[in-house]
Amino acid sequence: MEGVFPEPLRQAIKALAFLPGLGEKSATRLALYLVRRPERAEELAAALRALSRIKLCRECGNFTEAELCGLCASPDRDRSVICVVEDPAALSAIESAGVFHGRYHVLHGVLSPRDGLGPEELRIPELLERVRKDNVQEVLIGLSPTAAGEATAAYIVELLNDLPVRVTRLACGLALGMEVRYADHLTLKRALLSREVLK
Ligand SMILES: [Zn+2]
Repeated sequence: MEGVFPEPLRQAIKALAFLPGLGEKSATRLALYLVRRPERAEELAAALRALSRIKLCRECGNFTEAELCGLCASPDRDRSVICVVEDPAALSAIESAGVFHGRYHVLHGVLSPRDGLGPEELRIPELLERVRKDNVQEVLIGLSPTAAGEATAAYIVELLNDLPVRVTRLACGLALGMEVRYADHLTLKRALLSREVLK
């Protein structure tokens, strides 16, 4: 590509090619599209710059601009139930099903020693702390029924064993290996309404 495109265009292609799912070909196509539509490029640049304002909610770990995310700040959410999810995409999928009115705890991953993801990185101590201090009655495990999700769920259930809290998980409808963030509304709704009691 050396010499074919000017430096800024080459830089844009390089930056876009870093995005998951985009190879150099798609990155080049997008960069060429954006260079012809500067107003779109400006819009995109502004939206991307604004992402630096996003941080993690100090309660649940969801993405937020303020100290607390909208769900944690809302007085309408049931504080006695916490749904543990793998990532904000799973939170969003469960929220879209429209039947869960409690609050969440976002792990930002599942246990994976190989990737350096242990209990500390997943904010599991914070989950226990919330269960203790907020008088939580139920922890709903909303993790995907994948091998790593199951291992993480088992670990959390064991930690919660000594605490006076009910532990449930998403049940019927979710096929083994299915990821929560990709499940459709109806499946999630069913899984949320008929949760399995673990403890
Ligand atoms: Zn929150």
